[in-house]
Amino acid sequence: MARAIGIDLGTTYSAVAILLDSGEVQILPNRDGEDITPSVVLFQALGSHDEPLVGTMAKHSAASAPDDVVQFVKRQMGDPGWRFTSTSGKSYSAEEISAIILKRLKEDAELVLGEPVRDAVITVPAYFDDARRTATKHAGTIAGLNVLRVLNEPTAAALSFGFDASAKGLVLVYDLGGGTFDVTLMRITDDGFDVLGTDGDRMLGGFDFDNRLIEHIAEKVEEQGGPSDLLDDAVQVASFREKAEMAKRSLTTVAATAVHVSAGGAQYRVSIERAEFEHITKDLLNRTKDLTEFVLSEAGATWADIDHLLLVGGSTRMPMVRELIECLAGKPANRSVRPDDAVAMGAAIRAAMEEASNADTDLAVFDGQTPVISDVTSQGLGVIFIDSETDREINEVIIPRNTKIPAKYSTSGATVQDNQKIVLVRVTQGDDPNPDYVVEIGSKKISLPPYPKGAPLGITYAYDIDQTVFVEVTDLTTNQSLGTFEVDRLANLTDEQVETAKTKITSLSVQ
Ligand code: ADP
Ligand code: MG
Repeated sequence: MARAIGIDLGTTYSAVAILLDSGEVQILPNRDGEDITPSVVLFQALGSHDEPLVGTMAKHSAASAPDDVVQFVKRQMGDPGWRFTSTSGKSYSAEEISAIILKRLKEDAELVLGEPVRDAVITVPAYFDDARRTATKHAGTIAGLNVLRVLNEPTAAALSFGFDASAKGLVLVYDLGGGTFDVTLMRITDDGFDVLGTDGDRMLGGFDFDNRLIEHIAEKVEEQGGPSDLLDDAVQVASFREKAEMAKRSLTTVAATAVHVSAGGAQYRVSIERAEFEHITKDLLNRTKDLTEFVLSEAGATWADIDHLLLVGGSTRMPMVRELIECLAGKPANRSVRPDDAVAMGAAIRAAMEEASNADTDLAVFDGQTPVISDVTSQGLGVIFIDSETDREINEVIIPRNTKIPAKYSTSGATVQDNQKIVLVRVTQGDDPNPDYVVEIGSKKISLPPYPKGAPLGITYAYDIDQTVFVEVTDLTTNQSLGTFEVDRLANLTDEQVETAKTKITSLSVQ
């Protein structure tokens, strides 16, 4: 059995790494020899069953077979209503699609390592909520992995850079990937990593920069006398998307490039200069700046306080990103780890730490000193109470956003009726007192002994290190616990559903 691996399950690209006995962290190439694998699945129907294909070939098929290709499934994680139906008529949840990608990554790692892989740490954006984290864990289980932890991507990135003992101080992790933007401020001390604040935008990434280029190309084609309804055709858009992404990557290294388009039987050539591309995407870049400044100000810090600047995610290769962030921080970004590798490498380190702590051994890489990782909650957690004076529902936040985890906070309430038989604990996520502006993640009915109206109850919420929520209700009349439970999650699969999905996915042949 191989050592536990680290998996960066990205919106657009995924990567796998392992810590070698030498203390070096290595990216494990996939079966095609690539360091990163597009998180794209093509469903090829073979008679009545599906044979999914994952990776670069699947990504290329997006243009020719858009209906058979699933991309960006990470954006659907935690959405129980989302389904993909293949041509053979089979339906897949977001967890199952992710599991298909994970199964391919696992099998590729086994090919390189020559040993079976079982244990893994999988990374998630820091702002992923409870449902999305749980869905990610389930995806791992469905793929046949034993998920040791889900780890925040910025923490993983810092871990990969944090090897160097001189990397003390305040660290800004700016992660602009394909589909998400994630910014985290943390402090590295002799003892470990301390996350001070984090935020993200689920709908901002390289994809949105590609979209701007697609619109730009369509406009230029129209100016040259081409059709005006180019973007109404899904196949045309998919083909534009491939070209736009290529052009974007070219503009990272060269100052001008050109895209060739055939439409309505004619050929068009659209040239694009880097300055033009930067101009049409300036607002996207500014959104990352605003969010970064928000995180800094929430933590009471300024650009000048940053000691280390870590640029993570493929989109930080765009020169405008580096220029902006380096200019604002007044210092160069650390370049010791490639932006596409950092998260998987950190996950591999975390995976090895987890194994070492289970086996009670020290890791050679840390000179016997395993760094402590302390993370913060990405979402406030609350409970819905009935206000006894107004009879209105109010949301009381029990664990505020950006609280260090593991965390345990309590509040108290009271029964609202004589001989009330049950109390319904409705667990919410969000920071607003108005229940309309928070998400109810689940609820639980707890039986009560008979009391007159107004009997005091204690409600304790605990966040474990994976940011999974536990709730305890205490009868404060007798000071007895009425039970601790995990929330019945409205947005997640049940244990049985996970088992069924596991049988379904592990029996698929994934290419
Ligand atoms: P994610 O973690 O969201 O899956 P990655 O961190 O792998 O994504 O980044 C993927 C994004 O980076 C894609 O949008 C891709 O187009 C972009 N990208 C990769 N290389 C370059 C480059 N050289 N120049 C500009 N963008 C790039
Ligand atoms: Mg990423």
